[in-house]
Amino acid sequence: MEIKNGIPVSPGVAIAPAYVLDSEFFRIPKRFIRKDEVDLELKRFQIARENAMREVQDIRDSVHSIAKDEVGLIFDAHLRMLEDPMITREIPEKIKQKRYTPEYAVSRVFKKIIKPIKEIGDSYFGQRVNDFYDIQKRLLRNLLGQQAQNISKFSRSVVIVAHDLTPSQTATLDKKHVAGFITDVGGPTSHTAILANALGIPAVVGLGTITADISGGDIIIVDGKTGRVLVNPDDATRAKYEAKSEVYHEREKRLVDAAAKAERHTRDGANVKLYANIELDDEIPHAVELGTDGVGLFRTEFIYSQFGAHPTEEQHFEVYKKAHAALEGRLLTLRTMDFGADKYASEVGLEHEDNPFLGCRSIRLSLREPQLLITQARAILRAATLGPTRMMLPMIGSIEEFRAARQIIDTVKDDLKREGVPHRADVPLGMMVEVPSAAIMIESFLKESEFFSIGTNDLVQYTLAVDRNNQYVAGLFKHTNPAVLRLVSGVIRACVAAGRPVSVCGEMAGEAHFAMLLLGFGLRDFSVGPTSLPELRTLISRVSIAEAESFVQKAMALDLADDIHALLEAEVERLLPVAEFGI
Ligand code: PEP
Ligand code: MG
Repeated sequence: MEIKNGIPVSPGVAIAPAYVLDSEFFRIPKRFIRKDEVDLELKRFQIARENAMREVQDIRDSVHSIAKDEVGLIFDAHLRMLEDPMITREIPEKIKQKRYTPEYAVSRVFKKIIKPIKEIGDSYFGQRVNDFYDIQKRLLRNLLGQQAQNISKFSRSVVIVAHDLTPSQTATLDKKHVAGFITDVGGPTSHTAILANALGIPAVVGLGTITADISGGDIIIVDGKTGRVLVNPDDATRAKYEAKSEVYHEREKRLVDAAAKAERHTRDGANVKLYANIELDDEIPHAVELGTDGVGLFRTEFIYSQFGAHPTEEQHFEVYKKAHAALEGRLLTLRTMDFGADKYASEVGLEHEDNPFLGCRSIRLSLREPQLLITQARAILRAATLGPTRMMLPMIGSIEEFRAARQIIDTVKDDLKREGVPHRADVPLGMMVEVPSAAIMIESFLKESEFFSIGTNDLVQYTLAVDRNNQYVAGLFKHTNPAVLRLVSGVIRACVAAGRPVSVCGEMAGEAHFAMLLLGFGLRDFSVGPTSLPELRTLISRVSIAEAESFVQKAMALDLADDIHALLEAEVERLLPVAEFGI
């Protein structure tokens, strides 16, 4: 038995065989297929090539409308490469005759293409090599995406082992068969962490070289509370963790029961709304079952992995329509696309940036390529006829950015009106507060934005200069850093004083620890991963605002993040005792 330690990001215990996903670095091992699999594998390659071509066409068409012709020409060249006989003939031949897997055949053929070009050493041809790498990656991504979907073929649960789970990999997994997630990289608010939490699946990230250390089929125990991962445990250890897993399930059940009976206000009668953070629209029915008041944050990025880099207005609209149907009249807050850096950068073919978290991501990309925002805003305004809807802009850092986005949205409203398309022009337009400059300038933003939602995942990252996805600095990623708490409390207090709706939708809101603090700052709207709803509802019903306010005074007098954390932990134990809930 081997024991590894990583960063615990989603509690619970999973015990299941490992399923190792090939990483984004595409280290493709030499693997062979059986004779009876040849036709199926040829088909898989053909579909991957067709999808890759469609993606390139979409990108080409969209850049043609906004960029100079030379940019479009690059993608024309990519299309020609995908039609070259080296790809259309040689790869299928290798699958048929050598019985290589399509992934291995692709990597062999591209090695053969790229090697001589690299050897020329000419700078013009050197740049072309990147085009070939790009196409190879696109093909492999399509192949591996399909392989990930095949996880639904498992008749029993697996622990997914990956370098990092890309959003599109997670979106395509059949979650019924995923008992746990473990990854080489990642931090406490990385995408894997958020998704695992949303789905209530135990997860440990930042394990270093776990994909290399584990083989498919190894029995894995994931302890999502302690960050411990055990490989091929002995019988006694396995039995111990099976018992622990039971205790977790029992705790969840008790919390769901307690929440169902709990009042929807604090002990002294303050109404508190608990909204859900949604990554995929099929999570909504579960959130509704758990008593959510609506969706406080719909991360719409998954639409871009589901339908390709440039979903149409109709594709957006259909997703929002489905969300409204599941919400049955509850609020739907749609965040406009936030990709770049940790989200979908490779899937949508964004250029490499040395510093992507500080680069052209999120709203900056929407303003650089307005067609992205226009298409999505049209769908959002139309979907607003189906139920209460709000539109939220991510990563706003300056008043200029907010105004520029509002101007585009106003033009969209004029267009819809002129075209006679049914829509609602009175959809509230709000913003995430997740860049420190926005938190500091909150008083000015109050004049611009109709509502606010504090994104603590990015706010912590940008305030403390700590990469949210980097396991080596995960110990520095502290919500309880007093600088972060001052920004959060400043934003909440300013909004409350101005009577402007404010919520917290970062992971901080979903952790029971912080509920007392946030209530004491004046927060009444929380937006959290659906599985956090029962715990939070139970805890909030047991607290009074007076108690929360005096707790804030005590906590904010401390200078050390760890001292504040210790205080918060003691409060959770007081309100949700282990004696009552089992762990
Ligand atoms: C945040 O930054 O806190 C947030 C809620 O958005 P995301 O995690 O999607 O960046
Ligand atoms: Mg964010």
